[in-house]
Amino acid sequence: PEIRRCMGSSIAYWAERLPDNIALDDAAGVVTYAELDRIVTDYARALVGSGIKKGDRICWLGKNSALYFTLFAAASRAGAVIAPIGWRLAAPEVAYVLKDTQAPLLICEPEFAQIAQDAAAQAGTVKTILAAGEANGLMALDEWLVKTQPGELPETDPVEGVLQLYTSGTTGNPKGAVLTSDNLFKLRPLVENKPEHAWIDIGPDDSTLAVMPCAHIAGSGIGPIAFYNGATMMVIPEFHPDSVLDCVDKGLNQFFLVPTALQMLVNWPRAQETDFSSVRSVTYGAAPIPLELLRQCIQTMPQALFCQQYGMTETTGMVCILPPEDHDPEGNERMRGIGVPLPSVEMKIVDENRQEVPPGTIGEIATRSGLNMLHYFNNPEKTTETVDADGWLYTGDAAIMDEDGYFYIKDRVKDMIISGGENVYPAEVENAIFGHPQVNEVAVIGIPDEKWGEAVKAVVSPKPDTGDIDADSVISWARERIAGFKVPKSVDVIPELPRNASGKILRRELRAPYWEGKERGVN
Ligand code: ATP
Ligand code: MG
Repeated sequence: PEIRRCMGSSIAYWAERLPDNIALDDAAGVVTYAELDRIVTDYARALVGSGIKKGDRICWLGKNSALYFTLFAAASRAGAVIAPIGWRLAAPEVAYVLKDTQAPLLICEPEFAQIAQDAAAQAGTVKTILAAGEANGLMALDEWLVKTQPGELPETDPVEGVLQLYTSGTTGNPKGAVLTSDNLFKLRPLVENKPEHAWIDIGPDDSTLAVMPCAHIAGSGIGPIAFYNGATMMVIPEFHPDSVLDCVDKGLNQFFLVPTALQMLVNWPRAQETDFSSVRSVTYGAAPIPLELLRQCIQTMPQALFCQQYGMTETTGMVCILPPEDHDPEGNERMRGIGVPLPSVEMKIVDENRQEVPPGTIGEIATRSGLNMLHYFNNPEKTTETVDADGWLYTGDAAIMDEDGYFYIKDRVKDMIISGGENVYPAEVENAIFGHPQVNEVAVIGIPDEKWGEAVKAVVSPKPDTGDIDADSVISWARERIAGFKVPKSVDVIPELPRNASGKILRRELRAPYWEGKERGVN
């Protein structure tokens, strides 16, 4: 093939040109592009032969593995849609996704066989097979392959869905965003091999890393990028500083991590002795990053191009970036923001009537580009609520744009605190508290207050070995750094903050006990 517009044609493209290049590298071994092309085709034929029809969903319940990315490519080659399910979810949550996708097939890792079976039973008719090995009397994928009569591969079109990802559920029930091959591939030719976007460049001699959970765009999105470029994708089942450092020792060239993972990585003792010189670019995003942490990361990997990414499941990941040239080890104002839209991406700030507002005014981010999802699966109501008739997608994120066109996230619209008529953005308060010597994690929420409507509260967890946190010292630390009305009125200390699988703090969980039986304007 000459054209790479989907996973199958990209893999075939490299299988023809560089058959021995390594496509996938995980604990099970390595797979070359020639082998991957063959396996993907075999799996795709088997899927069709087993009765999978165009547009069917195939669910995956497991961690990251070369097999997952192989199945992702095979499903798309078969005209089907892969829907990875977060492996941290409990059976009823898995059942929710199974039901929502109406998937006829669920492939799970042995570790999750019990949850898979319980969830499948709750969801109704879904055939469950095992990725590998043996568990609970389930049939394994290899056995199933041998028993299946291969089918004829259908024509596919890059405008069709190939990946269905559930949003993180930070603000409510997860929604199934359907992403197409065009969503996953169209941006590439616009940014690659452009000197100003060198941070994104990756080719057949390079390696990248799949480490964030595959149920999220930051995990699954890496696969198509590696395959498009003929690169090697190292795959680790889940984040651990040592696993990432093992890859760095093997010559890893670029990786994406969320801020909490970066924090663990740079504070890991072994990182102090690691040679990071092979790492050309570090991308990060999905949640706000404290400036202090970002500076520490740059100091740990001074040779790397740092690029922040802002985006969401519904926009196939990044639509806006803070480019390397705006990063410096000393820190600067722009490093508090998310930067500028990518080529071909439009972004604007709107008010509550969805009218554009001038620079410097806080409002909601709206974005339009070829990266916007096809729709929320089986949910036309939520889809039209989120994407308007002109193709603008409303993100739910509150931000401002400055005169230079740089965007600064204030917070989720839903997390904003209104205290005594003033808007307080938790992220800003959290950023101010983050440098406190005893504070490891911090979340700021609004709790009901007779006088102020809502009062600002900080919930913090202590660093190991620093002992108890003195709540008053947190308040005075904040008072020296931010306006009085933003300073927390109270501080709770808990051992660890609740987070979802993408590392995002679940402020709604922290809020819930305070709001029991009361109405909050937004939940
Ligand atoms: P749900 O939509 O179910 O509530 P979610 O919005 O957390 O969950 P995702 O699609 O995984 O699900 O996350 C997208 C959100 O992550 C964005 O809307 C934004 O709030 C946040 N985000 C992404 N990148 C950044 C960034 N660079 N800085 C700050 N926040 C970010
Ligand atoms: Mg969201």
